[in-house]
Parts: sequence; C-alpha cells; structure tokens
Amino acid sequence: MEKGLLMVFTGDGKGKTTAALGMAMRSAGHGFRVCVVQFIKGSWKYGELEAVKRFGAEIDFRVMGRGFTFKSDDIEKDRALAHEAWEYAQLAMFSREYHLIILDEFTYLLNYGMVGQTEFLDVMAQKPENLHIAVTGRSAPHAVIKAADLVTEMREIKHPFKEQGILAQKGIEF
Ligand code: ATP
Ligand code: MG
Repeated sequence: MEKGLLMVFTGDGKGKTTAALGMAMRSAGHGFRVCVVQFIKGSWKYGELEAVKRFGAEIDFRVMGRGFTFKSDDIEKDRALAHEAWEYAQLAMFSREYHLIILDEFTYLLNYGMVGQTEFLDVMAQKPENLHIAVTGRSAPHAVIKAADLVTEMREIKHPFKEQGILAQKGIEF
C-alpha cells in the first residue's frame, strides 16, 4: 500500500532539519521532485541551499521569513511573511508537482499563532493522497502529532554547545 505521509520531526535534540533534508536527497535520487520551504531563524548561510543550487535539479528550495523569535522587532512583518510562506506551501501542495514537501521549522509558525492549527490541519487533511509532507521544528503541537502518520522526537543526550561551549560549525549546524 502506498500512502502520502504526514511526518513530523520534533524535539529539542539536533537532527530535525537534517533528517528531512536527508529524505529530500533520497527522494531526489529516485528522480522525484521535492519542495523545501525553509523558515529561517537568524542569519546563518545554510549549506543546504548552496548544495541544492549546485546538485539539486529535483529540489525546489524556497527560503522564507527572517527569523522567528520572541524578540521580533516587527511582529506584523513576521505575520505577513508567515502568511506568505503558508500560501506558498499550499500552492506547492496542490500543484501536484511534488512527491515530497518539507515545511522546515513550521512548528514555530503554529506555536506563535502565525498560522492557525485548525487551518493547518484542515489543509493537511485535504492534501493529495500520494503527497508526502515533512514538518520540522521544536514543540510540535499535540494536535499535529495526533494527525501525523510518522512522528520522531529528537531527544538531546549531549550537545557540544552545552557541554563544551562549542559554537555552531560550518557544515554541521549550517
Ligand atoms: P539540524 O538543522 O542540525 O538538523 P535541528 O533542525 O534539529 O538541527 P533546530 O531546532 O532547527 O535543530 O536548531 C538549529 C540549530 O541549533 C542546530 O544546528 C543545532 O545544532 C542547534 N541546537 C540544537 N539543539 C541545541 C541545544 N540543545 N543547544 C544548543 N544548540 C542546539
Ligand atoms: Mg531545524
């Protein structure tokens, strides 16, 4: 039986975004088209975007947002960007062009109320049957976990920043 899955990678340990990107690579390797909608947090220049430009003909990579934090200086602008990103995600979903769509850091939009949980779940319930969707981000809402087909929680056991004060390193964190 084949079924498009709603997948969630959540938890406070490292590996959520990279797990989703690994799956993007796997799908692309089979010649399937993938769409990544990445909501950036902060100002890192992520290696994955450059990799896709160089090697990723099958992957459409769209970076949106400008960092979602409590200390946002312009909440209205954040809301508008979140709305734009969500609209884009829905266009991608119903375009039927993709085998897999990754909504990276999307839990933040849900947790900050920038995209309504009910609306999000209603749209997910109507997604094309064979489309796979992966949502990443910390603290996935319970309702999203309940609706998902696959949920993995990355649990932190050790992190080099916490134990050793090692800051983010190129190629590993960004
Ligand atoms: P990655 O993008 O490496 O797969 P992630 O998507 O699971 O990580 P995010 O919550 O998006 O993690 O956090 C972004 C970055 O913050 C990661 O690169 C990660 O190394 C770092 N990070 C994650 N957990 C911790 C932690 N407990 N302490 C410090 N930094 C962390
Ligand atoms: Mg992430």
